[in-house]
Amino acid sequence: MNPKMDHDAAQALFNDHVDGELGAEQSAALEAHVQACESCREALDQLRTTVAGLRGLSTPPPASDILQGVQRKIRKRSRGRYFTRGFATSGYRVPYEIIALLMVLLMVVVYFGMASLQDLGAVSGAERGHAEDRERE
Ligand SMILES: [Zn+2]
Repeated sequence: MNPKMDHDAAQALFNDHVDGELGAEQSAALEAHVQACESCREALDQLRTTVAGLRGLSTPPPASDILQGVQRKIRKRSRGRYFTRGFATSGYRVPYEIIALLMVLLMVVVYFGMASLQDLGAVSGAERGHAEDRERE
């Protein structure tokens, strides 16, 4: 590689250089150019500052006790209705899936129960109607 890197080649490598992805030889050539070239030095400084700022903005990893913290806050705000100590540690939770399934089954049973009652009512009503007709005749 040509140790006397030109301006455009140097600037093309800025991002990789800041990310630490250049080989030693390329890095050295780039540094040599930047040392000699003021506009590249300023541009590289600016890029480094920008990248450092962006890294500072990146979301920090959540604290390891985030679950306990959230549960504590919910417990406090709900005045102990949720995530009381026993609730959190026993592993007990309300089996909403099973309750939902039972509700659906109950609705199906009620639906068919009412449908068959209506059938019965219609039949008996019809029979009653026939009976009344016959009485009138
Ligand atoms: Zn330059």
